[in-house]
Amino acid sequence: MKRRSYLLMILAFWLPLHVSLAQPRAFRVLAFYSTNVEQDHVDFARQALGFYASKARKGHFAFTSTTNWDDLNVVRLKSVDVVLWLNDSPHTQGQRSAFEDYMQHGGGWLGFHVAAYNDADTNWPWFVEFLGGGVFYGNNWPPLPALLHVDDETSTVTKHLAAQFMSPANEWYIWKPSPRLNENVKVLVTLDPSNYPLGLKDTVLAGDLPVVWSNTKYRMVYMNMGHGDKIFADVHQNHIFEDALLWLHSTRKVTSKPAVAPHKR
Ligand code: ZN
Repeated sequence: MKRRSYLLMILAFWLPLHVSLAQPRAFRVLAFYSTNVEQDHVDFARQALGFYASKARKGHFAFTSTTNWDDLNVVRLKSVDVVLWLNDSPHTQGQRSAFEDYMQHGGGWLGFHVAAYNDADTNWPWFVEFLGGGVFYGNNWPPLPALLHVDDETSTVTKHLAAQFMSPANEWYIWKPSPRLNENVKVLVTLDPSNYPLGLKDTVLAGDLPVVWSNTKYRMVYMNMGHGDKIFADVHQNHIFEDALLWLHSTRKVTSKPAVAPHKR
């Protein structure tokens, strides 16, 4: 009896130590946004910060945010598992280069709405390839709700969505060529053609409009949602914002070695 108690005591001390060594470190998310951009884009960014902060509190991940895009540097990104771009993108060559290096070495990215904007003046070919080849071509105006359909209901990103659903008012973007034409791109959600013509001042008349997709060469998801303060109004759609982040987490490469080497005796 005495010997059994002794063994239990040893186990009680030994187990927590070794369990903590075996656990992967916390999943860390860093969100970038800007306050000097279009007000509707700031509104979305602020709501997204609240949304992800509340999800983080429930224990999924550590969440921080910054308006300092110089935090997009090689040293800072070493301790980040996924970066969020909430309606803005890098402003300098140094920030761009650090992001390329990060993504090419297994970094994670979740980008929203105008974060993926690029045109003839953007002059960042790597980023266009990263997105799957699409260049911004146009949009509807004013922002309107739209019927979306899920391309892959088996994906972890879309698993909580119905096959079709009404998405709250958004400014929907056209990309040319459609990212779907890229063999590395997995389209997850698409604007349903029944929405056409979509818009009043600026009207989208036709075409293939992927809304959420991943370029499978990278750990990335892009979502076109992100204009205005209505995006988080739909609890059904909100699942995808959390599920995409958790999916990026699940694709993170975790080494089998503990982060801190045990002390030598
Ligand atoms: Zn917008």
